[in-house]
Formats: sequence, structure tokens, C-alpha cells
Amino acid sequence: MDAPRFRDPQLRIEDLADEPILVLCPRCGGRASVTASRLTCPACGLVREDPRPDFHAWNRPIDPFFHEPLWLRADCRGNTLWAFHERHLDLLERFVAAKLRERGPGDDPGMTLVARLPSWMTAAKNRDEVLRAITKLRATLS
Ligand SMILES: [Zn+2]
Repeated sequence: MDAPRFRDPQLRIEDLADEPILVLCPRCGGRASVTASRLTCPACGLVREDPRPDFHAWNRPIDPFFHEPLWLRADCRGNTLWAFHERHLDLLERFVAAKLRERGPGDDPGMTLVARLPSWMTAAKNRDEVLRAITKLRATLS
């Protein structure tokens, strides 16, 4: 079965912050969520409303507003695979699974999320292992 063709949706990592980012709750270790204005944990009731947005925190396995470790993190070939939420995981999965990857029509393809993925994640020889890590992470969402 051929893997589907993937067209770069021209998303930037910042675009994915338009829905809550899943993080480890700093109080109970449960699954909390972060937006640009607050951190909330349904497990223990923690609410924080003192975000410190940090431009340099994008593209790291922490959230860019409260700097808590992301919920969706997995070791993969000595690297850290991470995602903000399920939509991000879906995007990574579709990209890694695709055999044919097309750039979109944007002016600046070097800056999109998928164009910036590290080479270990996009290497064909790592495909199966990366997809397994994504499957494992998806299981933590149910
Ligand atoms: Zn909590």
C-alpha cells in the first residue's frame, strides 16, 4: 500500500498554539493544558494566569507560555519527539508516513513547521521507529 502524498500545509509552529497545548501539570504530573493566557489542570484543579511568553521557547519540548514540559514527548533514537497536541501529532504522522513530500506554494518554505523538522525525524531509515513513537504518544491521549 502506498503511503499518501503529503503537501506542506504551510503551518508554522506558532499556528498550532491556536488550540490548547498539552503539558505535564507542575503540581500533580497529570495532563494539563496551556493557552496564551492560562494553564489549567482538570486533574488537580490548578490554574495559573501568569504566562511568560518566550520567543525562544518555540521549537522545544516545552510550552512557549508557561515553559512546562509537553505531555506528548517520547525518546526516539536518542532524540526527543514532541508535539503540542493531537493535531500536531497528526501532522507529524502524515508527513513522516508520506513517501512523496511536496512543498506548498508559500514564499518562504524554509520556515514552515514541516520544513524545519530535524533530519532524524524525516530520514527514511527512521520512519518506522518515528511512527511507532507517534502511535505510543497517541495512546496517552485516550
Ligand atoms: Zn494537576
